[in-house]
Amino acid sequence: MFSAPGPEDAALSDEQGYARWLSARQGDWESLCRHCGACCGALEDPCQHLFMTPEGRSCCLVYPARIGPHRTVAGKLFTCVHVRQKLGTSWPGDEHCGYKKGAAL
Ligand code: SF4
Ligand code: SF4
Repeated sequence: MFSAPGPEDAALSDEQGYARWLSARQGDWESLCRHCGACCGALEDPCQHLFMTPEGRSCCLVYPARIGPHRTVAGKLFTCVHVRQKLGTSWPGDEHCGYKKGAAL
C-alpha cells in the first residue's frame, strides 16, 4: 500500500531522502482517516471537543493538546490516546474506520 522511495529521492542526501520518505508515509497514514468521528464517540456520547462540520467531517477542537484526560458531552471522564493505540480495541462505528481497514491489509 505504501510506496517505496522513488527516483526523485536519489538526488537527496540520505538524511533528506529519509525525512522526505517519512513525511510522505505520514501523509499516507493520515489520509486513511475518513473523519467520521466515530473514534471520538460520534455515534454514542461524543467527546466535548468533537466538532462536526455541516459536511459531516469531524474535527478535534483541541487537536494539538488532545492526548490526555477529557470529558464527553454527558460528562464522562476518559483519556484520549493516539489512534494507533486504539486499533486493537473496538468502538461503535469502527467497521468504517480507514485506519482499522488499513492496518488489516
Ligand atoms: S480530544 Fe480526542 S476524543 Fe476528543 S475530539 Fe479530540 S481527538 Fe477526539
Ligand atoms: S474512526 Fe477512524 S476513520 Fe473515523 S475519525 Fe476515527 S480514526 Fe478517522
